[in-house]
Amino acid sequence: MTSPQPRPGILDIKPYIPGASPAPGAAKTFKLSSNESALGASPKAINAYNEAAGNLFTYPDGGSTALRDKIAEIYGLDASRIVCGAGSDEILQLLTKAYVGEGDNIIQSEHGFLVYALAAKSCGAEPRFAKETNLTTDIDAMLALVDDRTRMMFVANPNNPTGSYIPEAELLRLRQGLRDDILLVVDAAYAEFMEQPDYNGGEKLVDQFDNVVMTRTFSKIYGLAALRLGWGYCPPAVADVLNRIRGPFNVTLPAQAAGLAALDDQNFVDLNRAFNREERNWMTDRLTAMGLEFAPSFGNFILIKFPHRAGLNAKDIQDLLKSEGVIVREMGAYKLEGYLRVSVGDKEANRKFIEVLTKKFSSS
Ligand SMILES: *Cc1c(COP(=O)(O)O)cnc(C)c1O
Repeated sequence: MTSPQPRPGILDIKPYIPGASPAPGAAKTFKLSSNESALGASPKAINAYNEAAGNLFTYPDGGSTALRDKIAEIYGLDASRIVCGAGSDEILQLLTKAYVGEGDNIIQSEHGFLVYALAAKSCGAEPRFAKETNLTTDIDAMLALVDDRTRMMFVANPNNPTGSYIPEAELLRLRQGLRDDILLVVDAAYAEFMEQPDYNGGEKLVDQFDNVVMTRTFSKIYGLAALRLGWGYCPPAVADVLNRIRGPFNVTLPAQAAGLAALDDQNFVDLNRAFNREERNWMTDRLTAMGLEFAPSFGNFILIKFPHRAGLNAKDIQDLLKSEGVIVREMGAYKLEGYLRVSVGDKEANRKFIEVLTKKFSSS
């Protein structure tokens, strides 16, 4: 009567629910549920991907050498401390696998990105959630949860789904309040959208301390989510650990080729950043005019609060948007009932989204 059983805790995990995709064959739909690039990918990256088709029979470079060198050049970093992965998700999973186990705990913020808690649970560790202040990571609340079984702390900066960020000085204060044996992971997936002078993605802390890692992705501003490409910037000892446990060919050849070309097109990144700022401002101006509350966002998405009224609440508005072909993200899993998260999409999608809301809220 026995069958193979996973380790304790695995079956308690609720699988991560990605942003919904349009049903195949549906009429024109607008996917504003996964914070994908509004401008797609750089044409140079698409060309490089197409050219890689001729080499599909070969294994990729297991060390992602050319890609790491280019990341180092563009971001002013040390290539030997960079580890590439199948999305930053793989880096987050590998770090957790390496540094936490049964009986340990990790700390993240109340409305922080959920992948951290899922990764911790898959390793038998307890995720602890620190209260936020004004939908923003609260350093003191995070530090207050630390005990002798704490092994890691995760901060998404800016955070998804709230869109808020903490300045460089606060990040430093967080590190200074942590024991040296706790690994601080700064997930800077939206760093390229940031324009605030008091912001740093986390690389300065990595250079300064042995217990800070920064993760980055090609899924957002670079528009390469389909290829699964991300990286971590690590202290040498952590890079060594990741290189021991990652798959020997964890980043595909087309992903490396497209990533390299995307890095070479910083003009596209600048365009995407400026487009996102203008469209996000346009959307938030409209939301304000409708009397809707939203969290100030520094990413390519907006977290919007809806009234607790039949027909106008988050669930009903999500259904209404869906019936009009606009897919947004529900927030129940993030303990943000009453909210929806909408990505900043292309002009047509954003106008469609605002048009549907305006019909409901302009009169109130
Ligand atoms: C989208 C996102 C990522 C990126 O994940 P990939 O695996 O690189 O696609 C990481 N962290 C946060 C907070 C995100 O929103």
